[in-house]
Amino acid sequence: MIDIPTPLLDALRHAQHIAVLTGAGISAESGVPTFRDAQTGLWSKFNPQELATREAFARNPKLVWEWYAFRREFIARAEPNAGHYALTELEKRAEKFTLVTQNIDGLHERVRQNVETLRSSVSPIIELHGNIFRTKCFREDTRVSDWLATDEIPPRCPRCGSYMRPDVVWFGEALPRRALDESFRAAESCDVFFSIGTSGVVEPAASLPFIALRNGAVVIEVNPEETPLSASATFCLRGVAGIVMPQILERTAEGN
Ligand SMILES: [Zn+2]
Repeated sequence: MIDIPTPLLDALRHAQHIAVLTGAGISAESGVPTFRDAQTGLWSKFNPQELATREAFARNPKLVWEWYAFRREFIARAEPNAGHYALTELEKRAEKFTLVTQNIDGLHERVRQNVETLRSSVSPIIELHGNIFRTKCFREDTRVSDWLATDEIPPRCPRCGSYMRPDVVWFGEALPRRALDESFRAAESCDVFFSIGTSGVVEPAASLPFIALRNGAVVIEVNPEETPLSASATFCLRGVAGIVMPQILERTAEGN
């Protein structure tokens, strides 16, 4: 059992708005390989930093599309873990809940689909880096969910005929404006902020817990390792989300 301080539980019980930021750690628990770990077999000779860019796609769209198809297959086999489920439970109990993720694997969304009884007014998950299972037009930058299947790789946008690309943020690209604005707003207005499985070094996500702190929120870090946030966070729980989050949930319920 992890020691969960009583003031942390009190803060959670009284919170009006809980905001959560998740990073690669929670996905790793589900067996989603990191960017670099995915470079196996055929793909091991490629540097991901040279595949996940606009320039790489412009140079060789087929290669980049196929690399994403390969990674999608890996990710599709991963299952959400106890940490993902605990967050959905926490969401059910919270008055207001904002979930921001740096992960592109859609695992949070899959839990929501598995759990029926969420309130009708759930706020959408904010995906800062996009979602590998979505596709958008390379030229128009708009999401495309249906297209005519042909043999061509990548497939073409049904509106403009340009190639389509995965709806993820590549190196050198800006994060989606709206997602970013919404996450900053959540960090400013929440009373409890969780930073879960994130290294705390990738900006602008790394700033979110500090914004929450400045605005008086209780900031809880859940991570097996120390991060640049650890020294400032109100509470640090050393462990993986799949272990720590269910325990927090259980202990919070006890007091009710
Ligand atoms: Zn288009």
